[in-house]
Amino acid sequence: MQISEIQAIDIHGHYGRNDRPGRPLAIQFQSADPAEVVRRARQCNTRYTVVSPLLGLMPRGGSDPVAGNDQAARVVAEYDDLLQWVIVDPLHPRTFEQADAMLKSPKCVGIKIHPEEHCYPIREHGDKLFAFFAQRRALVLTHSGDQNSMPGDFVPFADAHPEMKLILAHIGNGWDRELGHQVRAVAASRHGNLYADTSSASSIVPNLIEWAVHEIGANRVLYGTDTPLYSASMQRIRIDRSELGDNEKYQILRGNAAKLLNLPAD
Ligand SMILES: [Zn+2]
Repeated sequence: MQISEIQAIDIHGHYGRNDRPGRPLAIQFQSADPAEVVRRARQCNTRYTVVSPLLGLMPRGGSDPVAGNDQAARVVAEYDDLLQWVIVDPLHPRTFEQADAMLKSPKCVGIKIHPEEHCYPIREHGDKLFAFFAQRRALVLTHSGDQNSMPGDFVPFADAHPEMKLILAHIGNGWDRELGHQVRAVAASRHGNLYADTSSASSIVPNLIEWAVHEIGANRVLYGTDTPLYSASMQRIRIDRSELGDNEKYQILRGNAAKLLNLPAD
């Protein structure tokens, strides 16, 4: 079997409007409805895309995560290819109740947090959030690499709550342009409950994904695209053509996510 034939699981997707005031082409190019997200995923042999709604994340500091979660629950029910991250925003307490209700659905696989778009430092809100995640033994995807969401800031919370699992998004993303933050945080964590995803624009950097696998192991690296903000096909071919072994590529593209999400191995 060719690596490109593996039916991948993209653990980091979105749908909806990239609401960036004053940037009309970014809005035009990086927005897509759910059908278009699915079309692009199928184009590069992605079987499942786990999405959070851009309505619940943007515009920065002014999104509506409650309406976004309700919308996403309806959308994923309509598309066999889509699964849901329910958004939790500590500044919108109603989202905690939504998470409890929506996590009962087999289509809602975990929780998404975004300290940058929701404008809070994880250092200040981590205690409350991680206690909630741990009580629910939740799988959580977080944006990481900017000043409210530095990967190293998550490590003490993940270490204190080994019942939950945390995926640091965007290997290579750093507000200071340092490429190693996510990988070093995973390496520093104590209980094996920290992972990182490949959904960064920094994936264009040669050797980055390969270095990540060398440092933390392919079983800690998950395939993510950040579709429709980034090209899903470009992210896919970066893994397919990486300087990694076939089994490592399989783990990244499908195997690790299948285990975490209780989906078939292939
Ligand atoms: Zn994203």
